Amino acid sequence: MEKRAEKRRIVLVPFPAQGHVTPFMQLGQALIQKGFSITVVQGELNRVTHIPGFLFVTIQESLPVSQLKTLGPVEFLTKLNKTIEASFKDCISQLLQQHDNDVACIIYDELMYFSEAAAKEFKLPSVIFSTVSATSRVCGCVLSKLNAEKFLIDMEDPEVQDKVVDDLHPLTYKDLPTSGMGPLDRYLELCREIFNRGTASGIIINTASCLESSSLSWLQQELGIPVYPLGPLHITVSTNPSLLEEDMSCIEWLNKHNPRSVIYISFGSKAHMEAKEVMEMAWGLRDSNQPFLWVVSESLPEEVSKIVSEKGYIVKWAPQNQVLAHPAVGGFWSHCGWNSTLESIVEGVPMICRPFGDEQKLNAKYIESVWRIGIRLEGEVERGQVKRMVKRLIMDDEGAEMRDRSIGFKEKLKASVRVGGSSYNALDELVKFLET
Ligand code: UDP
Repeated sequence: MEKRAEKRRIVLVPFPAQGHVTPFMQLGQALIQKGFSITVVQGELNRVTHIPGFLFVTIQESLPVSQLKTLGPVEFLTKLNKTIEASFKDCISQLLQQHDNDVACIIYDELMYFSEAAAKEFKLPSVIFSTVSATSRVCGCVLSKLNAEKFLIDMEDPEVQDKVVDDLHPLTYKDLPTSGMGPLDRYLELCREIFNRGTASGIIINTASCLESSSLSWLQQELGIPVYPLGPLHITVSTNPSLLEEDMSCIEWLNKHNPRSVIYISFGSKAHMEAKEVMEMAWGLRDSNQPFLWVVSESLPEEVSKIVSEKGYIVKWAPQNQVLAHPAVGGFWSHCGWNSTLESIVEGVPMICRPFGDEQKLNAKYIESVWRIGIRLEGEVERGQVKRMVKRLIMDDEGAEMRDRSIGFKEKLKASVRVGGSSYNALDELVKFLET
């Protein structure tokens, strides 16, 4: 009997921001290594253009990602998902024609939930890729199911802020990813839209069971679909699809410094800092007397540049993985985006946590209280406090202990992606699903 031609093409639908595009392209590369073909569907702006072996399809941007700032996350995502659905269906229809119906699955970012309608229409399997932590996903699921009226009242109560949220231990109300999202009721509506769908066949998460076993068990039980924790993806593949140009000169600068002496500072691709905060940071860093490498995309006032020039080095965008792997780096002051968190742990670098929005506060809670590999800088940034934090991290025993624990996780993470490890097995399971 003639063997049915296997469907080997996977369509990827990333959300167009660096922290989402990177793990998506890494997943694509991991699947190419397993013999699949990859087509990436993306908008015209803010996109990756070349990755060997990938096919890129462009759909006209219904809502440029630049509007994320003006509209706020909730309005932006709601609008984007409404306006793009039809053109995505057209795009899938064309792809099926071009490739002889050879599409095995649509893997979409949980924020790009419009993809589900096309999967349904063309009877294609779909899998969600959640590029944040498993705990963030649990948090989204819990928020999408709770009594919205009671939650809105609770959130108004200052005394509730330090209470642990049911089902989300050890997260408290103030750790929830609600700030900066827009009106709370609209945010909860969006959570229901994203997390209550139940139509996808599985969910991929860029995490490993040694980091988040209880959140992963919760998801397995609660969702009733396979969960594939196959991360950290950046250990297994080399793709690093930077949307911005990396300034490699910082590696030469790092080469001139002693082991574990430099503090690396980066707040990811979206964070914006107030001028006063930047000034306090600059003074505190200078007073700490430790060398520091600081990623700042905006131009700094002359006064700050002057303070920084004594001990620091500024770049607009760094080759972050190389920086974290550099022996001179002793600590990472981070906004605690999920990719940065994973990248830091994989290099065994302890952290100063300064979360801004999204799920960063939740990651910071895990870094400080669950994994105990970092300290959190709370309240207003003030130079004396900055100096003390840097000292604790780089010079004190406390920092050395955090580093040791982080190195312990690094070993476990590396083992999880090796043959027989939990992430390795999860990728295998996913491949089996995609092949059927
Ligand atoms: N990044 C980088 N160079 C920089 C700053 C960040 O390559 O100077 C990368 C970093 O390695 C990570 C991503 O940008 O992979 C940021 O993702 P994350 O989830 O940490 O934060 P987001 O930008 O989504 O807030």
